[in-house]
Amino acid sequence: MTTRREFFINISLVGTALAGGQVFAQAATLSESDPQASALSYKADTTKVDAAKNPKHTAAQACKNCQLYQGKASDAAGACPLFAGKQVAANGWCSAYNKKA
Ligand code: SF4
Repeated sequence: MTTRREFFINISLVGTALAGGQVFAQAATLSESDPQASALSYKADTTKVDAAKNPKHTAAQACKNCQLYQGKASDAAGACPLFAGKQVAANGWCSAYNKKA
């Protein structure tokens, strides 16, 4: 059972985590040459994705409509949990793309 004191400690920790997330939201832009980005065929412009290497890719797929994208629809870039501490371009794409429901 959660005591009232534990409840407020938990709320406080969530607040700290959210504040930390905002710091990440202002992190550096992910480079296509970053080893992890390159491993996932990341491109900052979805229209530049190599179709031969990524046959399932379509130009309509972009970070901004991916389930993992944490930016707002109007943001030029946003956080992605696959690339902690970096921002991915709203019009970017990687092979872990998963259409937002
Ligand atoms: Fe973009 Fe989604 Fe890949 Fe993250 S997982 S880089 S949001 S396509």
